[in-house]
Amino acid sequence: MDKPTVVISACLNGFFNRYNGGTVSDDNVNALKPGFQLITVCPEVEIGLGIPRKTVSLFKLGDRLEVIQRETGLNVTQKLVEYSEKTINNLPEVDGFILKAKSPSCGVKSAKVFGNLEATKILGKDDGILPATVRRLRPYLPLIDEGRLNNRELRWEFLAKVYLHFLFRQSSQDIKSLIDFQARAKYLFMSISQKDLKILGRILARHQKGNLEQTVADYRQGFYQLLSRPVRKSNLLNALNHMFGYVSPRLSPAEKQHFLRLLDQYRSGQTDFVTIIEFLRAYGYRFNLPYLLDQYLLTLG
Ligand code: SF4
Repeated sequence: MDKPTVVISACLNGFFNRYNGGTVSDDNVNALKPGFQLITVCPEVEIGLGIPRKTVSLFKLGDRLEVIQRETGLNVTQKLVEYSEKTINNLPEVDGFILKAKSPSCGVKSAKVFGNLEATKILGKDDGILPATVRRLRPYLPLIDEGRLNNRELRWEFLAKVYLHFLFRQSSQDIKSLIDFQARAKYLFMSISQKDLKILGRILARHQKGNLEQTVADYRQGFYQLLSRPVRKSNLLNALNHMFGYVSPRLSPAEKQHFLRLLDQYRSGQTDFVTIIEFLRAYGYRFNLPYLLDQYLLTLG
């Protein structure tokens, strides 16, 4: 197990299985593939819709989301839900999902939703059936589609969480590894939830010899809770400020001002946090600060 395991939509992984018999080659996805073990899925083919096939669309009918083939009226919602539940429940341990944007089966908050079978205007966008089922059954697993991979911050968050989940799986064999994991994840956890960071710290602090199973079970529960939350700007600024505290005594006044200006620019949306992380990493190398350089906030994503 030397790479994270990620579930990927088959059409993003070289299969010619789209409704028109085509495939999709996306540069961002292709760049990530060598870093993962991939498990390929295609809900529409797996439920027997065939290749090529008439397109299906997502409809909000009453308070239910339904997937229907407009041309034939065939409703495949139940089949897609059953397929998604069975697939997720039978997967080996996986660390995340990269799915095809805009698809009513795979799209992550990007599938068009229509109000009725004749509608051409959309009501909005939502998850396709597979990601909606992942959120219901495994809310802590990171999900993205290739459209969102274009956004540097969303890509960073997705990758950081995939690696975090993967590293947790490797660290939960003994208490020493788990304590090391918690230490290195400190600022990344802080950038998601300070409250969860404290809860996880308390779980490790009350560990008693001979009770690893209980400690890991409690830690896993808290960790999953944390992973299911998004990275928030205010939390991330807090974590970046804390990390800056290690560096700032070594910087000139002009360098300090420059860094603080970058934080302000991130606060006001003029720059992204990936740039600031690069600055902190560069300072870590310049001043030889292994504690900082070992932090997952600087190494993952
Ligand atoms: S988007 Fe999903 S359902 Fe559609 S072809 Fe790709 S993998 Fe299959």
